[in-house]
Amino acid sequence: MKIKVLGCSGAESPGSGTSSFLLDDRILFDAGSLTNILDKKKQLKVECIFITHAHLDHVTGIPYLAENIVFGSTRRKVDIIGTPHVMKMIKRHLLNGSVWPDFTVIPDAHHGILKLIELKPGQSMKVNDYTITPYEVNHTVPAVGYLVEDQKERRFFYTGDTGPSDGTWKKMGDKRLQCLIIEVSFPNRMEEFAIKTGHLTPLLIKKELSKMKLVPERIYITHMKPQFLRPIKTEIRKLGIKNLRLLRDGETIEV
Ligand SMILES: [Zn+2]
Ligand SMILES: [Zn+2]
Repeated sequence: MKIKVLGCSGAESPGSGTSSFLLDDRILFDAGSLTNILDKKKQLKVECIFITHAHLDHVTGIPYLAENIVFGSTRRKVDIIGTPHVMKMIKRHLLNGSVWPDFTVIPDAHHGILKLIELKPGQSMKVNDYTITPYEVNHTVPAVGYLVEDQKERRFFYTGDTGPSDGTWKKMGDKRLQCLIIEVSFPNRMEEFAIKTGHLTPLLIKKELSKMKLVPERIYITHMKPQFLRPIKTEIRKLGIKNLRLLRDGETIEV
């Protein structure tokens, strides 16, 4: 499994893009940075997008991708997959015909560029050689992370935005993760604020890891707010946890 980091920042600024992770050129997890990173040819390779939650920094690339496809030479369909709540939010607030055209019925009702597919937490979906399952996490709005397993039982889990989430790890049980991509948005001094807004700090991530039956082989941190990058980096290093580090935009992880 090859995961390309299109964006791993908790806010957008020159040089730092919002959450998007591309698996094997075809499966996208969240659509923060998308059309501003991938060229047209690579955009057309995207077959489906799994969305963790409906916050703008995780869905903003969807409308632009749809427009590029409709005016592209090879027109194709992209599946947008998420929980029933997230699909409702995207339909109601993003592709609503007011904020942006409804590309689920363009060019016509039977051949929409985008297809919204509901996937309930705990329900698995097969995509190519992968089994992908959403697990609920604790955020200010309904949100999930995605567990991805290949046929050789190699696994990674991408949390999306999450605060402390006891239930998530319990439900995943004793599945050993080769890779965990988990968020840290704020430094330790902002713990109260982080909990209130459904996010983690370096100390909170340590607590989350202690709740897991098996510690993941490698842990990558995403969604850092750029203005706090320096203290987060220092505090992550101080945790002294092996194989844990911050992600960088543009890098590729092999699982
Ligand atoms: Zn969020
Ligand atoms: Zn976010």
